[in-house]
Amino acid sequence: SSSAQRRPTGSANPGGGANQGSYDKPWRQNMAGKGNAAGAAGGKGGGPGGAAPGNKKQYIGPDQELATMLERDIIDQGINIKWDDIAGLEEAKRVLNEALVLPMIMPDFFTGIRRPVKGVLLFGPPGTGKTMLAKAAATETSCTFFNVSSATLASKYRGESERMVRVLFDMAREMAPSMIFIDEVDSLCSQRGTANEHEASRRVKTELLVQARGGCQIDGVHGGGGDKDKDSASADGEPPAPRHVFVLAATNFPWDIDEALRRRLEKRVYIPLPGQAQRLQLLKINLKDVDVAPGVNLDSVAAQLEGYSGDDITNICRDAAMNGMRRLVAGKTPAEIKALREAGKDSFKEPVTSEDFQQAIRKINPSVSKEDIKRHEEWLNVFGST
Ligand code: ADP
Repeated sequence: SSSAQRRPTGSANPGGGANQGSYDKPWRQNMAGKGNAAGAAGGKGGGPGGAAPGNKKQYIGPDQELATMLERDIIDQGINIKWDDIAGLEEAKRVLNEALVLPMIMPDFFTGIRRPVKGVLLFGPPGTGKTMLAKAAATETSCTFFNVSSATLASKYRGESERMVRVLFDMAREMAPSMIFIDEVDSLCSQRGTANEHEASRRVKTELLVQARGGCQIDGVHGGGGDKDKDSASADGEPPAPRHVFVLAATNFPWDIDEALRRRLEKRVYIPLPGQAQRLQLLKINLKDVDVAPGVNLDSVAAQLEGYSGDDITNICRDAAMNGMRRLVAGKTPAEIKALREAGKDSFKEPVTSEDFQQAIRKINPSVSKEDIKRHEEWLNVFGST
């Protein structure tokens, strides 16, 4: 499938006609070459908007390659995670809804004192649902989702990472509404690694702050509306389509984030380990496709899982659900297993028992330490905000 899937079409984008005339960025034509409908329309180019004075950036060769790489590596297509797929985290959902989703639906309302918050940071131990929240917010807003790992920025695109950030924001503006999700944002500030690595990530961070300020921003998630939009609006008298680029960052190490970046990320939302109710919800979400034996008390399983992350609980459920199959095939030859399989789908139905859960719990330990939680809570007390 192509990225056109999540890109606004001409009809969904009132300023689109004129905008598309000005799509002379080489990477856009690249995409047109891939049979992308929106890109193909842009490929026509040459309209009066094509020479729009606001459209001053012209990419030279290497950026086309970068854009193609970015499209392949970073644009996450076809995500379809709903708020309800995420157990608990009601406060985080509320913040994201107010900071990102509602401003997109009713931008007029979010002006003046109600301007949307600048950046949003999700912090907390690993495996607690930060990435899921970002994806759900993107699904809710039908955004093009740029899933950027800072570690990738600093290593894979080494040497080109600053340019990469520029191209990334440009693409995001063109494909707006967009969400740039920067995972592991701490690694942009990290003091670890060699001097060269450190220098590279410092430059990426600077570029990110610059882009975010000049563009549609980490510094104000609200729609961009630069000169270019004004120009393109005049063609048919329609108001310009807002070019929202939302920036959402996540980290497992908030204390590594330096002040400059922290100040941009106005809302800092703690994503903690799940409590009892959320653990029960996680069990139910994970086990929705399997049969659970009647004697299993999920409440008490959830209670046993205190200290486990959402990701750990997924692993426990997977392991427990596999146990039934293991029991069925134990001591059988491949031919016998095949015969069993051929006897029908139901012959492999083996409900998950209490003992399956106990075995899984014995095998899988919580991945997050108490010290880690303590450190997060301390940081929350000093820098958290919702
Ligand atoms: P993080 O980004 O915080 O490290 P993820 O969002 O990638 O964590 O979650 C990893 C996996 O853990 C998910 O794919 C999902 O299976 C499970 N998970 C974690 N938290 C939740 C949650 N709140 N609701 C549902 N599943 C969760």
